[in-house]
Amino acid sequence: MSGEGFSRAMGAVYEQCLPLRDGTVADYIPELDTVDPESFGIALATTSGQLLSCGDAEHEFTIQSISKAFNFCIALELLGRDEVLKHVGVEPSGDAFNAIIFDPQTSLPFNPMVNAGAITVCGLLRRALGHNAVEHVLERFSRAAARPLAISDAVYRSESLTGHRNRALGHMLVSVGVADQPIEPTLELYFQLCSVLVNANDLARMGATLANIGENPFTGESVFDLTAVRDTLSVMFTCGMYDYSGNWALDVGVPAKSGVGGGVVGIVNRQLGIGTFSPRLDAKGNSVRGVRAFECLSGEFGLHAFEFTNFGSQFVRDIGM
Ligand code: GLN
Repeated sequence: MSGEGFSRAMGAVYEQCLPLRDGTVADYIPELDTVDPESFGIALATTSGQLLSCGDAEHEFTIQSISKAFNFCIALELLGRDEVLKHVGVEPSGDAFNAIIFDPQTSLPFNPMVNAGAITVCGLLRRALGHNAVEHVLERFSRAAARPLAISDAVYRSESLTGHRNRALGHMLVSVGVADQPIEPTLELYFQLCSVLVNANDLARMGATLANIGENPFTGESVFDLTAVRDTLSVMFTCGMYDYSGNWALDVGVPAKSGVGGGVVGIVNRQLGIGTFSPRLDAKGNSVRGVRAFECLSGEFGLHAFEFTNFGSQFVRDIGM
């Protein structure tokens, strides 16, 4: 398939998903409800540094839970895998992202992709980076996106004011000995990192940086540690779409992470980063159009990790990129 043919096929997926109007925009963080529910963008970035996009691929929204995957990657690098895994597990929880539950066997949060585990990871980042944690992590996100990113102060303040459930989780983490006191700065770091503004193009480039084992294919810069990327992709594959992760693995078959801002990032190892944005969410908190777009793209281009024709591993070469 040619680059042009590929672009046309992506446009067809966009047209196919555009009429979907199921789901609702997240409003439990009041500021998220100000988004245009109709906006929809798709972007693909290859590990050879090409970007294709359609729709509202430059429309900014907050990264929300997608930050959890990158935070985990940075924590693995800074503290080492053994230390991180003393504080957070890697098992799918089978429960909602904001569930107040811990692994009954270990008393640890189930995994870093749900809120309990993500807040724990933010505690580790604060331990490693101190007061500079937010600047350091934001800079890493920016290097992965190949442009300077910023935090939405309005979304951050909105979540900080209303994040009672996450505060409850934070205090429980202290009580079970997983998080350090004081927990407030850790929670603020978590809220700030959820409030980073990105667009679908950024997600695609951030995904392509992971697909390219940590080196940004657009800048040639090394952003993430190689082994941390491998571990991050593994946990994204099993836990990234919350309690939809099993269905996702079956139907789409690529490591991915969603956020309640409406974004989804997916990675086709050594080939592609994919970013989608559409703010209406299903009952599990995943973007309705985003899930459908990934299903279509995966089917159309054979992106599933276990695609029997292995077409996916060929297609970048086939389109001459
Ligand atoms: N900031 C959001 C929260 O903690 C992130 C959740 C999400 O994107 N699933 O509730």
